[in-house]
Amino acid sequence: MKQMKIENANLEIVQGDITNQNDIEAIVNAANAYLRIGGGVAGAIHMAAGPELERESTELGPIKPGEAVITNAYNLPNKYVIHCLGPVYERDIPHDKLLANCYKNAIDICEDKDIESIAFPAISTGAFGYPVEEAAQVALKEIINKMKTLKKLKTIRMVLFSNHDFLVHKETLKMLSK
Ligand code: ADP
Repeated sequence: MKQMKIENANLEIVQGDITNQNDIEAIVNAANAYLRIGGGVAGAIHMAAGPELERESTELGPIKPGEAVITNAYNLPNKYVIHCLGPVYERDIPHDKLLANCYKNAIDICEDKDIESIAFPAISTGAFGYPVEEAAQVALKEIINKMKTLKKLKTIRMVLFSNHDFLVHKETLKMLSK
């Protein structure tokens, strides 16, 4: 794990599974526009949460790239799922701004709802084709920026599935903190 403290909050970078973050209040889903089950992160989250999650989430769709909505987490060990629609790389333009909006909007929801901990997957870096090196820069820059203003949120965790993605995020954080 790599950690960095900014003001009163902690940024953590870990390798793992987003459905297995037992100490975190809200986990983020890399959702599709209609907030249906899908593959990748969305498939894993819906599988672990159970069918009630999709019943609640589809009522809130469709959403646009960069937007975020919140639901209960049902059988997951967390209290909430925050569903973000990432941009499709080179199709939803400007993809960097839209990707940053995902992180910004999810963090704003936490601040509104007094949520103290959130875990993100690397949004858009799977089926949506965003190169992980570029996505890591956008995500971590936005998170670090938001961390300067937080009142409620104390822990922000990036959960990377593969060792490669974990190393890329660790290196990117090292570069950004210089
Ligand atoms: P998107 O459609 O936004 O690209 P994906 O779900 O296809 O979202 O993938 C986003 C990233 O999440 C990919 O890097 C993928 O390897 C990773 N991932 C897949 N399953 C999990 C999981 N269970 N926990 C954390 N990350 C995951």
